[in-house]
Amino acid sequence: MAYCLPVNSFFPRLRVSTLGVLVVLVDTARPSVGLRTTDSPIVVTEIRKIIHVDMDAFYASVEQRDDPALRGRPVAVGHGAKRGVVAAASYEARAFGVRSAMPSTTAMRQCPELVFVRPRFDVYRAVSQQIRAIFAHYTALVEPLSLDEAYLDVSGNLRGLPSASATASEIRARIFSETGLTASAGISYNKFLAKLASDHRKPNGQFVVTPATGLSFISALPVRRFHGVGPVTADKMNRLGIFTGADLARQSLNFLKQHFGKAGPWYYSIARGEDDRAVTPHRLRKSSGSETTFSDDLTDIAAIEAGVTAMADEVWAWCEKAQSFGRTVTVKIKYADFRQATRSRTLRTRVASKDALRDISIGLVRTIFPPITGIRLLGVTMSGFERDEAPAPVQLGLDL
Ligand SMILES: [Mg+2]
Repeated sequence: MAYCLPVNSFFPRLRVSTLGVLVVLVDTARPSVGLRTTDSPIVVTEIRKIIHVDMDAFYASVEQRDDPALRGRPVAVGHGAKRGVVAAASYEARAFGVRSAMPSTTAMRQCPELVFVRPRFDVYRAVSQQIRAIFAHYTALVEPLSLDEAYLDVSGNLRGLPSASATASEIRARIFSETGLTASAGISYNKFLAKLASDHRKPNGQFVVTPATGLSFISALPVRRFHGVGPVTADKMNRLGIFTGADLARQSLNFLKQHFGKAGPWYYSIARGEDDRAVTPHRLRKSSGSETTFSDDLTDIAAIEAGVTAMADEVWAWCEKAQSFGRTVTVKIKYADFRQATRSRTLRTRVASKDALRDISIGLVRTIFPPITGIRLLGVTMSGFERDEAPAPVQLGLDL
């Protein structure tokens, strides 16, 4: 997830479509509040075997692989300019406290010898395809989360391997021999735990969480580490005295609903190591968006509207190409002081035309006029595609 937002900041003077890269990340970065959807068959009688595979410092590792001069050095993929943001940092850079999504100026302060490298998304995408081809040897149930992460359901693996751990080892070995890159893996009985586990022995390691160890594993971890608990929610939990999984597990369902609304039941479940979400292959795109970071903050109303119009047109071009049209339009505004606002509108039927998309987008951005301060970034996103809209018993919330 951390890789997706900064993408637009690499080329501060250009309007960068994020259609190819951002899209998959946006909708899968956080677990849905609803624990099940109608298209997710749930098998409750068997213990599932889920692997979360996560490439180590992916973009940075690809750059170090392809340029020996970068090996062993602190590398940041991104743009080193004033508005730049670090998209990925090598482990050498992380040792200095450099992190993805960090402004480049901060990163350079932390690590003066930091080497900035421009991202090469075509190469990352090609590697990502190699990795997915490897996954396909083991299971058809692969759900990519981003270019460098995926869930695999290997409950019935295609190679007849004795265990999920053995499968993960073999997959990681194969990734290394075919791409020269290392991956880490988490192995568990659901997605939530597998994802937590893949972080546990990073880099180039794997970790198993069994039904016997699941609860104690979660109990000890800070809630901040939980997928779906963002920094704002983590702060809120901390203020309520909830710091670890164990603290979270002590709260009643009512208490969690009261303080976290629709997300309450999700937190209640994960604190118990419960997550019924299926690994959903060929996941459909749930949103398509375009964002722009401006080299100078926008304050002029006409310029802001022009920016929004251009992005709406870009999103529409994608929709036409994909023949996929959504019902929800979201406009994101990031201010010069990094405060952020989003405005959304959902129609009863899909957005019917380019003009309609423009009108809705402009209507949404006008709700923040006059802007409280300069605007550094604007984004337009369409979501709620018709193909996704099998009637779901629980509304999927992406607002965790
Ligand atoms: Mg990764």
